[in-house]
Amino acid sequence: MPSTETKFKILLAASEVMGYAKTGGLADVAASLPHALAERGHDCTILLPLYRCARTGAIPVAPTEHTLSIPLGGRRLAGRLWRSTLPESRVPVYLVEQNELFDRDERRFGHGLYQFSATAGEKRDYRDNCLRFAFFCRAVLESMRVLDLWPEIVHLNDWQTGLIPVYLREMYRHHSDARLREHYRRIRTLLTIHNIAYQGLFPPGEFAGLGLDWRLFNYHQLEFHNHLNCLKAGIVFSDLLNTVSPTYAREIQTPYFGWGMQDCLRERGGRLFGIVNGVDYSQWDPATDVHLPANYSVDQVQPGKGICKAALQKRFGLAEEPRIPLLGVVARLVEQKGIPFLVAGLPTLLKDCQVVVLGEGEGRYHDQLTALQQAAPRRLGVFLGFDEPLAHRIEAGADIFLMPSEYEPSGLNQLYSMKYGTVPVVRATGGLADTVVDCTPQTLSQGEATGFRFVALTTDAFLEATHRAVALYQHQPTAWMQLLLTGMRQDWSWQRSAAEYEKLYGRLRDYDA
Ligand code: ADP
Repeated sequence: MPSTETKFKILLAASEVMGYAKTGGLADVAASLPHALAERGHDCTILLPLYRCARTGAIPVAPTEHTLSIPLGGRRLAGRLWRSTLPESRVPVYLVEQNELFDRDERRFGHGLYQFSATAGEKRDYRDNCLRFAFFCRAVLESMRVLDLWPEIVHLNDWQTGLIPVYLREMYRHHSDARLREHYRRIRTLLTIHNIAYQGLFPPGEFAGLGLDWRLFNYHQLEFHNHLNCLKAGIVFSDLLNTVSPTYAREIQTPYFGWGMQDCLRERGGRLFGIVNGVDYSQWDPATDVHLPANYSVDQVQPGKGICKAALQKRFGLAEEPRIPLLGVVARLVEQKGIPFLVAGLPTLLKDCQVVVLGEGEGRYHDQLTALQQAAPRRLGVFLGFDEPLAHRIEAGADIFLMPSEYEPSGLNQLYSMKYGTVPVVRATGGLADTVVDCTPQTLSQGEATGFRFVALTTDAFLEATHRAVALYQHQPTAWMQLLLTGMRQDWSWQRSAAEYEKLYGRLRDYDA
């Protein structure tokens, strides 16, 4: 339990939180990190918008009498705070109700949290996303006053929260009420960037409705190619920044990975850190996983893992051969995940191996994978869709897991794979580079190797690394078992990540407002 000096009072603001609303990894972080921080004795509160899915979801939420009234976009928008508690914890969760802005997601109509399906199935951003999340940012700052809840640290996540430090500095630290002004002046901010590709870009007209001074609309602050850039606002105005792995933190300071933000990130390079996301081992542990046909652990891998492999082969109609290398893929089928290299490499891989692919994404990859599957039905299994239990069964049943990603801010599947004794083959980028140790004679003999890595973004490099893995699997079973067990012993728990975040929160105390 931390002492009072190392105990932090944190307010975490995020546009999605697992259990209430989710589109991606951000939701996992926004639930798991506060959970782990609370276990470590910190006082953490979560704030997110009250979307329809959160109002009608499985976790109880209830309205409070705390109301908000915020001038934005030339009018006054009313809101109300709802209250909930993060499951299996005491972490308070407040949800910002504003029905015009947040009560619209409905899966069956193709309406998501940020986007809707237009005709022809194409996804489009909601036209009022700027107003929606500017309102959320103001609501976070107003909530502190309304609830009399004064965190010393506001932990921001992605562009949807990027305007919070701007409003804090421009408005709230100059509050007309001296008592409130003092509270707001004590707050420090940390922005976590989960994927730099999503920046919240809006035409300049949107800026006019924010109630901020036009002097901020310049290239060194909120403007980016004559657009308002909400992520940039967060990058420039937050006290500290981090991304979800140390390598990604370095990569996004370069033009290839930076998506235009590299210069402003380099300017703040001394305040930019990287912390790898944790794994929720209560869900992802082969010893207790309820989705598996058999359980196993680092102390007793067989016969459990073999049973999982046979079941997976059966599920996909593959030849039930115990010794053929079985390679697994679970990914969004998009370019970022290196799917073009997978598709190009499959004909070669299928000569000696079986492959199973679970994913959904772009139509062209669906078509290419379906065609390959039809040509080799006993060697390639493909399931196009989202299926959480199947993802667990692939992690357990495969021998090798493939992640040829172009970029990967943190990545979870390589961490799951290691825990499941499924050796990852990864491109050495972002969180993959930080978590997988390449297998060489030296790393293997030192008991450090956990997988296989390649650097060049080419099909040849991907195949070379995969062939190294397959050869070890086929010809050196003792070395293979050692590699697999080293992976299974890794600790990538949230407690580990939370300890790193604690260090960043500690640094924040040193910064002047
Ligand atoms: P990203 O957040 O970029 O998609 P991560 O590796 O960080 O990549 O996390 C992806 C998560 O989503 C993993 O838990 C993975 O198992 C899961 N996932 C991705 N696609 C599917 C799918 N089609 N079905 C089930 N789970 C999936």
